[in-house]
Amino acid sequence: MILDEIPALVDPSLEDQLLHDESYQKLEAYTAEIHKVLQAFFSKDSFYKGDDIEEIRSHKLQASLENSEPASFTEVLGFLNDLYIKNTIGFHHPRYVAHLNCPVAIPAIAAESIATAINTAVETWDQSTSATFIEQEVIQWICKEFRLPSRADGVFTSGGTQSNFMALLMARDNYAYQHFGLNLKQNGWSDEVSRFRIFCSDKAHFSVKKNAALLGMGYDSVVPVKTDKEMRMDAKELVLAIEKEKQQGNIPIAVVATLGTTDFGSFDPLETIAIIAKEHDMWVHMDGAYGGCYVLTETHKKYFEACTYVDSITIDFHKSFFQPVSCSAFLVSNKQHFQYVSYYADYLNAFEDKDTERPNLIEKSIQTTRRFDALKVWVTLKTLGAKTIAGYLEKVHFMANEVYQYLQQKKEVFETIHEPALSTVVFRYKPQGIDGANELDNLNMHIKNTLYRGGLASVASTKFNGEIYLKFTLLNPKNTLENLVEILDLIEAAGTAYTKNNFANTLTDATL
Ligand SMILES: *Cc1c(COP(=O)(O)O)cnc(C)c1O
Repeated sequence: MILDEIPALVDPSLEDQLLHDESYQKLEAYTAEIHKVLQAFFSKDSFYKGDDIEEIRSHKLQASLENSEPASFTEVLGFLNDLYIKNTIGFHHPRYVAHLNCPVAIPAIAAESIATAINTAVETWDQSTSATFIEQEVIQWICKEFRLPSRADGVFTSGGTQSNFMALLMARDNYAYQHFGLNLKQNGWSDEVSRFRIFCSDKAHFSVKKNAALLGMGYDSVVPVKTDKEMRMDAKELVLAIEKEKQQGNIPIAVVATLGTTDFGSFDPLETIAIIAKEHDMWVHMDGAYGGCYVLTETHKKYFEACTYVDSITIDFHKSFFQPVSCSAFLVSNKQHFQYVSYYADYLNAFEDKDTERPNLIEKSIQTTRRFDALKVWVTLKTLGAKTIAGYLEKVHFMANEVYQYLQQKKEVFETIHEPALSTVVFRYKPQGIDGANELDNLNMHIKNTLYRGGLASVASTKFNGEIYLKFTLLNPKNTLENLVEILDLIEAAGTAYTKNNFANTLTDATL
């Protein structure tokens, strides 16, 4: 149908809701209102107000978009405050020690609002112009920190999962091309690929397996390699695992070394792994989603010396560089390998239009429209400097050690299983007289849920040898040992109460 007349907007007052010269004041007004609400959020004295299931159900109903009429921003913000902001988790709060969510650097938030308002998409030169160079500069800076060769390059991604995906994709396609002359990008699947094997430690991130499946190789293509007492990949076990797979007719194509495992912060022995991998012509990927930024520190840079041998690196700035989500990068030691993801679209980045002075970053990305996430890292570096960030990282590492030392002195109620290599501490509440795996699992899950639901503290849980442990992930340099000991006291109190109520029969009076 061709319209004779352009229909008028239903509500003319909504006309100035899109950002342009005339509506700019509106953004300022909204921002002022937002800051009031945010200020209240950041001045709360708990990380979370706590939850109960009735409230969760009622919030689910309130979030409904059915039959909703447009309202003023002030009204919506008020509603949002009740529904979300007042109820949400404060990652900046010292009682939040659960997952890899960091407090965010203020220059990064400022940069984020610039990038968002301007809405630059870093895909082609004509859309991003000099933003291209800012992203390239951040990439080159971090490549240098890892001492990658001059032909190294990288791209920002949505997170460690996507970066690990790109690594495995390149490892797969490169091996297929080099050893079988296969062009998977052009021709797709080939039977050889089902025999491809990827090795990583049994403490590696689940995204290795998930990505292997997404890439058509399947979960079974990922071979978990045993770890030593320090939770690092055991190089001897790697050699054995590679040999075993070869004997079975499978084809080892890649090793993922984790530098900073999610649970234990452990560092796989990169150099040894790289030497073994190169003997078999395998791709070496370093997953530094959590630990990668520690390359900037005096305490940990030694672990990264062998980066000169790796083929690719994952690094998450939204985990340990105090950046808002998302902010992650994928680096390769040889930029040629980006050919496995590049595509030339006539409407966007036609091959004929290739111009080295005006690069199109899309040729390195699996995304098309992409956020200008590099800006916040650049502004953070320019404002705070890498040393400041490194100092924060060292601080949280030392804090993890202090907690560990403290737990060592309380062996009658706490059990530890590793010395912190980074900024996590895995332990469990284990009073004397309770030894059953099931009892301990229930007890520790109960502690975690009690603290969380009561808004007292958020502690993570994970499994070690099939049993449940609690975990502190420390990413807030403003935290203190004193506060962390308070959380341990809460854990002990919740544990004691549960033990008295549930295991009274199994314990003697003396142990209670
Ligand atoms: C968190 C993590 C990932 C995944 O990163 P996202 O940014 O959450 O996608 C990958 N590897 C390791 C070691 C991680 O800790």
